[in-house]
Amino acid sequence: MNVATSKKVHNYSAGPCILPREVFEQAAQAVLDFEGSGMSILEISHRSKPFEAVMAKAQGLVKELLGAPDHFEVVFLGGGASLGFHMVPLNYMKVGGKSAYVNTGEWASRAIKESKLIGDTQVLASSEDRNFSYIPKGFAIPGDTDYFHFTSNNTIFGTQFKTLPTATVPVVCDMSSDIFSRPVNVADFALIYAGAQKNMGPAGATVYLMDPEKLGHTGRKLSPMLDLKNHASKESMYNTPPVFAVYVSMLNLEWLKRNGGVAEAERRNAAKAQLLYGAIDRLPQFKGTTAVEDRSVMNPTFVLNDAGLEPAFDALWKEAGISGIRGHRSVGGYRASMYNALPLESVQALVDVMEHFAQKHG
Ligand SMILES: *Cc1c(COP(=O)(O)O)cnc(C)c1O
Repeated sequence: MNVATSKKVHNYSAGPCILPREVFEQAAQAVLDFEGSGMSILEISHRSKPFEAVMAKAQGLVKELLGAPDHFEVVFLGGGASLGFHMVPLNYMKVGGKSAYVNTGEWASRAIKESKLIGDTQVLASSEDRNFSYIPKGFAIPGDTDYFHFTSNNTIFGTQFKTLPTATVPVVCDMSSDIFSRPVNVADFALIYAGAQKNMGPAGATVYLMDPEKLGHTGRKLSPMLDLKNHASKESMYNTPPVFAVYVSMLNLEWLKRNGGVAEAERRNAAKAQLLYGAIDRLPQFKGTTAVEDRSVMNPTFVLNDAGLEPAFDALWKEAGISGIRGHRSVGGYRASMYNALPLESVQALVDVMEHFAQKHG
């Protein structure tokens, strides 16, 4: 197959986002002819042997790459992490029970709202007082809450938990924007969930990595589609799974494994973050927008000290083939999302533009 690249783009999109070129090539090939079967991955039954093998491989790679305990289960569902916000209280909050959250930004706020629809929801700490520019610390997690929920990486404002909170109660984490970016101790969690489109694959699948022993204790009757225990016991095949999103996620996780797994990803991500934050701190025309100790390795955010110069800066990075660094509409400024597949070379291209801009406007 001959797939030409039209031009070099440095893709900083916050999600859906960059995936490795070789994953796109393998996915494109499978759309035309899946593993030499003469059929497309898009037309085979999800109950066929070849797709069952894809599902098993994708599930196995999630557990292997994150070092999950053997008894943990992996399912891939539709609905986005946003449906996860609703499924979490349904599956973990007892009838008449309560939950506890930390509010670190827009996604955490939405998760809290959904929990409040189901029952008594306590917000233990929030960084809303300073526009979510830091991670709250030193909060106590009550021992009588049914679960504790946090968002490991604040995709929009650019903050990240450097030390992941642990608790005696079940811990649930929305890891949508930094899953597979660093090692985590999965045994500390009842559930890790993540929309695929930030660091795992294309949009359309949400991964749930969970301890099945922590499910089924709420006393609540659930629709089978909203019941994580049901999906886990049906091997993620209760209904038609998001076949193509699971397949491309599998390819991307294979790529990650070939490239040293999450430990190497962490090292590469740290090098990228150091390069970009170094420029933000060194060049007087730029300013970071978050507390230094809580800076996200995945989604660095920054502004120009003179916002009037934004058009000049924008022209420069666009000319360099950089795409997707405008900040989220609720924050403004800039956000350079640097997921696993973004190469160091792309960060260097952005830093070169920043240095050029700083010289011109110094
Ligand atoms: C993008 C994002 C979401 C929303 O994911 P959808 O799959 O669009 O529902 C939730 N949480 C975090 C941390 C995100 O970055």
